[in-house]
Amino acid sequence: MQSYWETQSFFHYDVIVIGSGITGLSTAISLKEKDPDLRIAVLERGIIPDGASLRNAGFACIGSFTEILDDLRQISEEKVLQLIQLRHEGLKLLRKRLGDNAVGYKENGSYELMMGNEIPLLDQLDKINSLLFPVLHGDAFSLCNEKIKKFGFDQNEVQAMILNHCEGALDTGKMMFALMQKVIRSGVEIKTGCKVESVDEQKNGVIISVKNTEEESVVRFFASSVAVCTNAFTKELLPDIDLQPGRGQVFITEIIPNLPFDGIFHFDKGYYYFREINGRVLFGGGRNTDFAGETTTDSALNESIQQILEDKLSSLILPGRKVRIEQRWAGIMAFGKDKFPVIKKYSDRIFMAVRMGGMGIAIGSKAGEMLAEMIGKQWE
Ligand SMILES: Cc1cc2nc3c(=O)[nH]c(=O)nc-3n(C[C@H](O)[C@H](O)[C@H](O)COP(=O)(O)OP(=O)(O)OC[C@H]3O[C@@H](n4cnc5c(N)ncnc54)[C@H](O)[C@@H]3O)c2cc1C
Repeated sequence: MQSYWETQSFFHYDVIVIGSGITGLSTAISLKEKDPDLRIAVLERGIIPDGASLRNAGFACIGSFTEILDDLRQISEEKVLQLIQLRHEGLKLLRKRLGDNAVGYKENGSYELMMGNEIPLLDQLDKINSLLFPVLHGDAFSLCNEKIKKFGFDQNEVQAMILNHCEGALDTGKMMFALMQKVIRSGVEIKTGCKVESVDEQKNGVIISVKNTEEESVVRFFASSVAVCTNAFTKELLPDIDLQPGRGQVFITEIIPNLPFDGIFHFDKGYYYFREINGRVLFGGGRNTDFAGETTTDSALNESIQQILEDKLSSLILPGRKVRIEQRWAGIMAFGKDKFPVIKKYSDRIFMAVRMGGMGIAIGSKAGEMLAEMIGKQWE
């Protein structure tokens, strides 16, 4: 049961954004930048954003060398360039919008570890640099083999190392906090604990139904347009979207005295990634060892992948050292038939930016900007 006052002042919006990850929050900011008078609410099912945006590794990345080579086996050079451009522009927008200080952005180096069987691929380094030059305006990759020993990695396994000049690290928690503060300052309301059960398009707007667990009733919001930014969870609302969830496993160690490296690191086409953060090692990946098992929206830990990560930590990354794992978690990404996000008008009043893959930190801001542009077009 609602009072007259509640109905009048709390349930009608110009735009409702569903999902408060980086994409949803960026969409709200871009909409306000276009038209500060819009009344906008972001509805989030969690008490804090409950998706990948607070569970990732904080790599501000455009793609590692072996990952780009792998992409080139599947899609055209032109498409690969489009992907790199999207990531590059997304990161520029994120950093410009929030500032490097606020997101803890650091360029302490980004490296790819190359194993013995990958050495022949290095012949293509110059070719890939030339390919990416029009987007990055400089060489992205160079060899830095002298650092393998300095960083203490297993030199039997790691036989070359590539420095990527276009990537950095950020502090994911600080980034999301700064983004939420900016959204609130711009006059957007963020409503947490609001799991949207359905979106129902009508002639004059969209009805967005949220379960009120207190009263076991349904609360209905009304919006002229809806932006669906629910990434891996989108099929629960719109089942016909081409999207599969993909779980990512992560852990963080205790503080390690005299850790010999900082910066961010990838190996095996980006399937494994680790970094230094506040004197600890954050290590994640291994989804490729069990694609079927990790195609899930269940954010439980996968014991065998966690074990693979632990083994690689002690053999490859910190050989001869025993360190304690302090925290483990998993997060859910969204993948599709290719690496491009789905940013589209779904119906007359429902729009979506979903399927951010493993690089939503890089592309979330740009995806939000593109979605806001699409939504704005209907009022022109
Ligand atoms: C382990 C891991 C490591 C990663 N590392 C990196 C990295 O280093 N660099 C990088 O660029 N990317 C990385 N990613 C990917 C990146 O985190 C994601 O691509 C990005 O966060 C997606 O943002 P999003 O806002 O689209 O989705 P999400 O952050 O998942 O946001 C979707 C939001 O929608 C909400 N929601 C869902 N359904 C509903 C509903 N029915 N009602 C209301 N709210 C709902 C969810 O609670 C969630 O808050 C990583 C991901 C994982 C899991």
